[in-house]
Amino acid sequence: MSATVTKDEKIIDLMKKHPTAFTSLEFFPPRTAEGVSNLRQRIVRMKSNCLPVFMDVTWGAGGSTSSLTMDLVRFIKEQGCVANMHLTCTNMDPELIEQALADARKYGITNIVALRGDAPEGEGEWKKKEGGFECARDLVDFIKREYGDEFGISVAGYPEGHPNSITVLEEGDEMKLTASEKLRCSTSTDPTTSKSKTCVCYDSDYAAEMSYLKSKVDAGADFVITQMFFDSDVFSMFVSDCRECGISVPIVPGIMCINNYEGFFRMTGFCKTRVPKKVVSDMEKIKHDDKALKEYGVKFGTEMCMKLVNLGVPCVHFYTLNLEKVVYGILDGLGWTTELSRSIEGVDKDEIMMKAVGSKWAREGDEVISMFGKGIVKEIRPNGAAVITMKSWKLAFGQEPTAVLQAGTFKKV
Ligand SMILES: Cc1cc2nc3c(=O)[nH]c(=O)nc-3n(C[C@H](O)[C@H](O)[C@H](O)COP(=O)(O)OP(=O)(O)OC[C@H]3O[C@@H](n4cnc5c(N)ncnc54)[C@H](O)[C@@H]3O)c2cc1C
Repeated sequence: MSATVTKDEKIIDLMKKHPTAFTSLEFFPPRTAEGVSNLRQRIVRMKSNCLPVFMDVTWGAGGSTSSLTMDLVRFIKEQGCVANMHLTCTNMDPELIEQALADARKYGITNIVALRGDAPEGEGEWKKKEGGFECARDLVDFIKREYGDEFGISVAGYPEGHPNSITVLEEGDEMKLTASEKLRCSTSTDPTTSKSKTCVCYDSDYAAEMSYLKSKVDAGADFVITQMFFDSDVFSMFVSDCRECGISVPIVPGIMCINNYEGFFRMTGFCKTRVPKKVVSDMEKIKHDDKALKEYGVKFGTEMCMKLVNLGVPCVHFYTLNLEKVVYGILDGLGWTTELSRSIEGVDKDEIMMKAVGSKWAREGDEVISMFGKGIVKEIRPNGAAVITMKSWKLAFGQEPTAVLQAGTFKKV
């Protein structure tokens, strides 16, 4: 390592220095140069406004954002904050992982979130590369074997079970669920067909997930960061189950900020996350009012964070979605900051520029292809259908050539 580069402290050591709950923030690499430049400014503002103890940057599945993720964690470090770099290990050559860890060492990035990752865009399933890794535990093992205790390592935990271990219930099965299954199960309604489906991670699958999580921790993870959840009781049950299973490391709750309607339900649908009925009905009433949705996100987030702080969590880790307002509102609501949310009127107007690189979902503004040819996504509906402006269609009287295509009938170019 060059003499001028100082190594970040390990987050687990920082946790010991902060006996009361603190803030940490997570960002993803945006897809445009303008988005990246905005994010850099945002990181600077949020660092001074929220005083986070560490900031995460995600890693695009299959290594799709490797150099941008590295640039952003280095930028965070330059701002005087500890960076936590996500690193996935499937669907990419092991050499890329070796390079990422060597670069992290070179630049003094000490903290890594070790993940399996999902399939990158255009690839249906996650895949082990020849001679590569199969799961996050393989990556933890590798880091420990190659680097000893040099890196601080965290891993992902799933309070409702990993989506791969979640089953869609047949009619009538709901009656047979145990109390803990009922707490974890989620019901969602397709707004076009009005059909609802209920998903659950059965107790037996959940137990298997627990022992797998324990094996990741036993392999050397210092702490766990959870997948989003919207019911603090689910988190609380997860923590006690972890303790019972012998997982004694800190468990950091991942707080998904509610910023808008469609993105929220698209993401929770994809992750099969349980959204309490009250949240669904509250959001339904204000679905067309962005300001009201953000205010709701602040109110809901504040109440949930208060409960989590009372449960004794080490920190509240915000999935910021690269946006500020709701995070500021929650920190004001917790009484950790004062009038912060008033100080930034207008800065959250650039959501389109903040879309992620490497996402496998088509989003507004993306070019997509279908059996009708290419087009640009104008709107994505909560059920995944897209309103697409078709490129090659010519309509009379200047009508806009739009088509509504169901999810699965188009894909990103
Ligand atoms: C806090 C957090 C941060 C994340 N950050 C990112 C990110 O930056 N980039 C990104 O692309 N994704 C990210 N994800 C999403 C994550 O990559 C996906 O959820 C992925 O499907 C699983 O990754 P994992 O590390 O949890 O996998 P693992 O912990 O390896 O396990 C996932 C599932 O696979 C099962 N399993 C384990 N071993 C095997 C095996 N050998 N064969 C079959 N199944 C097995 C486990 O039981 C579990 O159900 C994040 C998720 C969380 C919760």
